[in-house]
Amino acid sequence: MRCMVSINVNGRKVDVPEGTTLLQAAEGLGLRIPTLCHHPAVADSGNCRICLVEEEGTGKLVTACDTQVEDGMAVRLDTSKVLDARRVILKLIFSGHPLHCEVCESNNSCELKKLAVETGISGIELPFIQGFRPIVDANPFYLRDLSKCISCGLCVRACQQVQGVGTYEFQGAGRDVRPATSMDASVDESVCEYCGLCASLCPVGALIPKPPMHQGVEKESITTTCPYCGVGCIMELLVRDNKIIGVRAGVPGSVNAYSLCVKGRYGLDFVDHPDRLTQPLIRREGELVEATWEEALDVVASRLEAVKEESGPDAIAFLSSAKATNEENYLLQKFARAVIGTNNIDHCARLCHAPTVAGLAAAFGSGAMTNSISDITEAEVILLTGTNTTENHPVIGERVKQATLSGRTKLVVVDPRELGLSYYAVISLQQNPGTDVAWINGMAKVILDEELYDNEFVENRTEGFEEWRQSLHEYTPERVEEITGIPSRDLVRAARLYGKAKRAAIIYAMGITQHITGTDNVSSLANLALLTGNLGREGTGVNPLRGQNNVQGACDLGALPNVFTGYQKVADEQANKKFSEAWKEELPSEPGLSVVEIMRAAQEGTVRALYIMGENPMVTDPDVGHVKEALESLDLLVVQDIFLTETAALADVVFPGVCFAEKEGTYTNTERRVQRVRKAVDPPGEAKLDLEIIAELSKRLGYTMPTTAAEKIMDEIASLTPSYGGISYERLEAEGLQWPCPDDDHPGTPVLHVGSFPRGKGKFTPVEYIPPDELPDDEYPYILSTGRLLYHWHSGSMTRRSQSLAEKVDRGWVGISPKDARILKLKEGDPVRVTSRRGSLVSRGHIFPQLQPGLVFATFHFGEETANILTNPALDPKSKIPDLKVCAVKLEKVKGGEGVEAAATA
Ligand code: SF4
Repeated sequence: MRCMVSINVNGRKVDVPEGTTLLQAAEGLGLRIPTLCHHPAVADSGNCRICLVEEEGTGKLVTACDTQVEDGMAVRLDTSKVLDARRVILKLIFSGHPLHCEVCESNNSCELKKLAVETGISGIELPFIQGFRPIVDANPFYLRDLSKCISCGLCVRACQQVQGVGTYEFQGAGRDVRPATSMDASVDESVCEYCGLCASLCPVGALIPKPPMHQGVEKESITTTCPYCGVGCIMELLVRDNKIIGVRAGVPGSVNAYSLCVKGRYGLDFVDHPDRLTQPLIRREGELVEATWEEALDVVASRLEAVKEESGPDAIAFLSSAKATNEENYLLQKFARAVIGTNNIDHCARLCHAPTVAGLAAAFGSGAMTNSISDITEAEVILLTGTNTTENHPVIGERVKQATLSGRTKLVVVDPRELGLSYYAVISLQQNPGTDVAWINGMAKVILDEELYDNEFVENRTEGFEEWRQSLHEYTPERVEEITGIPSRDLVRAARLYGKAKRAAIIYAMGITQHITGTDNVSSLANLALLTGNLGREGTGVNPLRGQNNVQGACDLGALPNVFTGYQKVADEQANKKFSEAWKEELPSEPGLSVVEIMRAAQEGTVRALYIMGENPMVTDPDVGHVKEALESLDLLVVQDIFLTETAALADVVFPGVCFAEKEGTYTNTERRVQRVRKAVDPPGEAKLDLEIIAELSKRLGYTMPTTAAEKIMDEIASLTPSYGGISYERLEAEGLQWPCPDDDHPGTPVLHVGSFPRGKGKFTPVEYIPPDELPDDEYPYILSTGRLLYHWHSGSMTRRSQSLAEKVDRGWVGISPKDARILKLKEGDPVRVTSRRGSLVSRGHIFPQLQPGLVFATFHFGEETANILTNPALDPKSKIPDLKVCAVKLEKVKGGEGVEAAATA
């Protein structure tokens, strides 16, 4: 606890904790000290010197932002000496700052201009002596106009301290000092990740976000949640004339504070893209043509009814959406179960974290991230595996970097690729793909053998220890090295680091789950945390990073074939009875089909109608050649989406839904935090609220949904779902709530498993290493792994329609190690054909030093060259996730070189 010290500000005595700055002490008294270089996101530097105050007694001028209080100190904020000095400093700043205010994009928000007005400075008191610095327009996201730079250093500090990147540093001296990249390279050639924090903090117009530019000042700002990844960043949408003209972070209490990544900051212009669907479409004579809502809804209702009558309810299946709100997911699964009478509902969580739900539920009784994002900086050691965090969950990646740069946290990275975070790690290990059980078991054996485990925790809070301990016998470091390629001494070092830490957190994502052993991989990580007692405390835990904005919520809300909301099993008599009574319908109790099973059943003809809300399996599912055949074999394919995606283009009926900025609702982020989504603009054309589309169909099929108001639907969810029992829009108004939140007085749960587990004791599960389904051979000698890029998201339907993101990366590539590129005589950008047992893909070759020889990496964002034409649909028997991370391929340089277009064929 910090000691208190007494100081005097403008004659008022105040007691503040030691370490408080004069600026903070004054603000605590409600007194304002002007400044240009202070921002709560970064440490203070005293660069601009505008915040000078006068020390009583000595008459000394000191900068308030970076001067810490001392007991007995007395300062005055507004003496003539202070005001004169401030005016001189401002005049000097203006002598190097051009007065182009009327044409400056920051004119209405410029802190320098506001200060000039406040202090009575015109800006022309001293001669203008700055040299010419041209505007640099060298990247799709922001302009640099260093003629306006006042050298406050906010951009430099933001990039170094918050983003942990260090794109900018100060170069030059005296009047020539300026922020520049290393070697003064173009930003596009630097390490910049375009998070945009620098531009958002720039107090003048030296860094200017683009586009949209020249849109004026917002008329209103709406607080909502980012529609992209599972971090769930909170942002304000700046709106003018029914158009989003900007984005602002910094909402108090938000998980992201002032940070956003490039997608959240610059990638929301898809909202008013001309490709938006504005009217229902019906396929007539092979073509999708515009129709009225009445026609489209009637056609779908009558055809669903016909399929149900002819073939039974299980001939109909639903794909719900990890992009849609909690309320939309709830209503669609209710529609599937209560109106149609089937449990055939799933969504793309099956393709990312189904093993997490299965593995963690078996070990702990709950299948979600155990801790909070804010805990990351509390860990002594982070074991990060199977997650390219800086690209897929950039704001969490930023927190990991901050933790390591603070010197308090040591990072261990285990991934077949060298990742952005590998450079921040004390140990970085690259295992052979698909060998995770072996190295995790190996680490556990070292911790056991060296007695580094938490005996008390194991004794009091776990079961199955002895049986599990026996199962590790074979996993010596030497044997693990044979399987995984990880040098035995490095494995031992990593095990000791994790085993000795008082607080160690595991962070993982789809590099762990997307395997035929996905559930086993998750179970092994859970075993490791149980062994070391790293559960139920801050800075510990097993933390799966959920991919999409609401993949956690879609699972929580029962968009899964075996559970209702809150993971209440459809086969459980009590749960089934509870939902049957609430929804006033008999409900099916047999679990339904998963995503990949639905596609297989469609191909076999047992599923005849498929209703897809906001998913694009033609790009995201494994073996898309077979997905296409499956979709084309259906009697009825209905797609509800905001764009005519690759999947919607195959539909019989397309319903135009609305996007995140056009509706009310909630998302649940990766740390189980339920957060509000708020309407900022009107939807285009006749696009309809997704809740209304489902309710309209339901009515036509004889079942009236009690309400389509999102807030009321959340009340219904809360009444049926113990973990959401205390969640209401009223309580979410200020900030989100983390489930479990069982009642109205419960504050939410930042850390799970404190003192006990939902299943009683934590359960050790013995798991044996099983090789991947498809290993390289003479015909297919490489291993392909798939993943995401920083600039795009999921099937690309939104990010590819963002001007800046699409300009930055407009198509996919195939990553090949430098050694393999030499063997194949491939140069950067040469077209390359990748072929697996399922299909073939031609794309640009990208020489990727982060890959080990024998490994190939490709992304699935680009429909015309999606890696999923190649991937293996073999399933993990426990969670039914396909093996998207390991498939055998061959590589060929495409002869003829230039001009070969991207192409994927099954
Ligand atoms: Fe959006 Fe995720 Fe980026 Fe945050 S980190 S701005 S939630 S995409």
